[in-house]
Amino acid sequence: MVSTIQTAPIIAVKGHSAAAKRMHKAPSLTNRELFRRDRHMCAYCGKTFSDIKLTRDHVIPTSKGGPDKWTNVVTACESCNHKKDDQLLEECGMKLLYVPYTPNRAEALILENRKVLDCQMEYLKSFLPEHSRVWEELKA
Ligand SMILES: [Zn+2]
Repeated sequence: MVSTIQTAPIIAVKGHSAAAKRMHKAPSLTNRELFRRDRHMCAYCGKTFSDIKLTRDHVIPTSKGGPDKWTNVVTACESCNHKKDDQLLEECGMKLLYVPYTPNRAEALILENRKVLDCQMEYLKSFLPEHSRVWEELKA
């Protein structure tokens, strides 16, 4: 026996919302989330690729003390990552086409490309930081 209740797409709860707090947290840094943040675009040549052709590049290589954090990683195609190798940008003469940043959970939910209702999108957008690249797509 199954019971169902009809509710609005967004419901409020009394007190502090744990869900709202989580919206400001960064998602785990995985290649899948990284490639989504960067729209599958190589940070060096600007071309877009499928997941299988992409790599995680550490702007400051880990061998030179660069952290494995959102603000030090970009999406790079295999060719550009191979070319950059273990070098700093000034050593290899390559330039970033975009600046890496830490996304939040709201952005990750939008980028998962689930079926998001308009009212839910408005809610998620309220958590997006100004520097999120999602804004460019929402305006288009
Ligand atoms: Zn590339």
